[in-house]
Amino acid sequence: MAGVSARIIDGKALAGQVRAELAERVRGLVERGIQPRLAAVLVGDDEPSRIYVGAKQKACADVGIDSERIDLSGSASQAEVLEVVRSLNEDPRTHGFIVQLPLPDRVSELAVQLAIAPEKDVDGLTPVSVGLVARGDPAGFQPATPYGIVEMLVRSGIATEGAHVVIVGRGQLVGMPLAVMLAQKSPRANATVTLCHTRTRDLARHTRGADILVAAVGRPGTITADMVRPGATVIDVAVNRTDAGLVGDVDFDAVREVAGAITPVPGGVGPMTVAMLLANTVTAAERRAGDAGRG
Ligand code: NAP
Repeated sequence: MAGVSARIIDGKALAGQVRAELAERVRGLVERGIQPRLAAVLVGDDEPSRIYVGAKQKACADVGIDSERIDLSGSASQAEVLEVVRSLNEDPRTHGFIVQLPLPDRVSELAVQLAIAPEKDVDGLTPVSVGLVARGDPAGFQPATPYGIVEMLVRSGIATEGAHVVIVGRGQLVGMPLAVMLAQKSPRANATVTLCHTRTRDLARHTRGADILVAAVGRPGTITADMVRPGATVIDVAVNRTDAGLVGDVDFDAVREVAGAITPVPGGVGPMTVAMLLANTVTAAERRAGDAGRG
């Protein structure tokens, strides 16, 4: 029996809305002589990283943010990377910057993140930002991907308040910070959160209880239709490169016949991630200008 297909949550369109609002805020800053600027540090020549940074720079240009890419060779030492971070911390023209992950093995991710000035940490990955966000303090920049997921739910009219959110994957970039953010006592959160991982017993028992199911694993086919409660919202965060192109963790064609709403891959969470990086950059510029900023 064919069910009613799920509503597709169009991340591209929602990101377009966010970007239009950001362009307005950038215009306000530029009128006051402030040109928002984002720098991206790229270490080595990892092709996907180069593509991600290129997409971020293009998105910056679309909303009027200046951007700069700083390339370091794959053989750069940790000291060289830290030196670039220090100079960006001190550069008055740069309001925010990111160090694109992954880094070569010899460079400690933690050492680099500890060196980034929290007021310029628009990726929201430094320990200071993580701590502030966990405390529910708006001074902390929210990490772009979980921030994008929350923004996407809000703009789609999908309430998290009182909802059971089940997140599959407890990575530091997505699952773990999203769990912390959605458990906050805030109108944009107030969810009851279950965080699943490889040691979770009977994963399907948990996922079937979800009002909102988030897959952030990095393995195609992790979420099948029998694991989804009819009418649930399904957010597929993963970007898996396969011979058939980019796919998520969710068995999209089958799950869309069960779910109430679902994000596609590509065109779901990805564009929102980029939009929220820009949002953090504009907020960083507003804060430096002495505005309260909207984080
Ligand atoms: P990660 O750090 O590698 O974490 C993956 C998580 O998935 C781990 O917690 C792991 O559990 C869990 N896991 C793996 N296999 C599982 C299984 N069979 N059942 C249940 N849990 C399982 O990854 P990440 O950095 O958080 O990223 C997750 C995905 O999101 C990746 O595909 C990445 O490409 C994507 N991503 C997308 C965006 C975007 O903008 N769209 C941004 C960032 C990341 P253990 O902890 O037990 O090992």
